[in-house]
Amino acid sequence: MTATAFEYHDPTTLQEALSLLTRYNGEAKILAGGHSLIPIMNLRLAQPKALIDIGKIPGLSGVREDNGAVVIGAMTTHHQVETSAVLQAKVPILPETAAVIGDVQVRNRGTIGGSIAHADPAGDFPAAAVALDLQLKVVGPKGERTIKGRDFFVDILTTALQPDEILTEIRVPAFAARTGSAYEKFPNPASRYAIVGVAAVVTVDGNGVCQRASVGLNGISGKPVAAVGVEQALVGKPLNDQTIQEAAAKAADGLEALGDIFASAEYRTHLARVFTKRALAKASGRV
Ligand SMILES: Cc1cc2nc3c(=O)[nH]c(=O)nc-3n(C[C@H](O)[C@H](O)[C@H](O)COP(=O)(O)OP(=O)(O)OC[C@H]3O[C@@H](n4cnc5c(N)ncnc54)[C@H](O)[C@@H]3O)c2cc1C
Repeated sequence: MTATAFEYHDPTTLQEALSLLTRYNGEAKILAGGHSLIPIMNLRLAQPKALIDIGKIPGLSGVREDNGAVVIGAMTTHHQVETSAVLQAKVPILPETAAVIGDVQVRNRGTIGGSIAHADPAGDFPAAAVALDLQLKVVGPKGERTIKGRDFFVDILTTALQPDEILTEIRVPAFAARTGSAYEKFPNPASRYAIVGVAAVVTVDGNGVCQRASVGLNGISGKPVAAVGVEQALVGKPLNDQTIQEAAAKAADGLEALGDIFASAEYRTHLARVFTKRALAKASGRV
């Protein structure tokens, strides 16, 4: 099967791209790396009237520091995230996540903005977007707004982005001192998509007592979620094998786990607990 016919536009300014989105009134799609959109168009699960390729708009890719925060352009590829010296030094969980996405072709074309905007429940960056509570800057006909990572994901392939909005940049607030982070996933052996993935960020005080824990899970349900029960179980406690094990046991609490041909709901629930424990242990070891 191939995609249905569509028109193609490659604007060179954001304003032009926004005007095109408005003109097509919800029937156009932004094209970034195309590694999720083109496959679903070929399956005819998406049949946009037009593609608006934002690859020629300057200023949408790259990593820079801004007042202690790190700002990543939406069109920054997974490979650029993986190899960014700034991210490796300041937010190492993002390069670590990028490194385990798909294969080298996917990492060279796919973009962090596309991954977050696509909101595949098995996508890797969305778990980090929740754990880091990323600030997602979007631009639309009414101007700019910022959506927090924890408020962005609505359901399978559905986000808080409106059809006439473009995600332009991702802002990562600076880590507090004594913070460690890790991303652990159980990959599908064929595609490398996450059957379950866990992004964990922990901050401790000078005595090793957990001040803040932030855990994002993907693969387990229709959208990436914060493991709030795990986070609450850790704050105020010393981070050690026992407290991590007890907290990780709550990873799937309150969630309706997905079951499909790759993993049953019971297996995903088990994986969520095991990989939460691994991610927390690794993050605490890196503080
Ligand atoms: C074989 C294969 C294996 C893969 N394995 C993995 C994996 O292991 N882990 C993983 O996380 N992903 C995986 N992917 C998906 C890959 O990471 C995609 O590149 C990514 O999910 C989408 O990014 P993109 O830039 O290709 O977006 P596109 O495919 O161009 O777009 C995806 C969606 O997001 C929208 N969009 C894109 N950018 C913006 C923007 N700036 N503003 C608003 N809307 C936007 C598009 O309109 C479209 O609806 C795999 C893909 C393939 C083909």
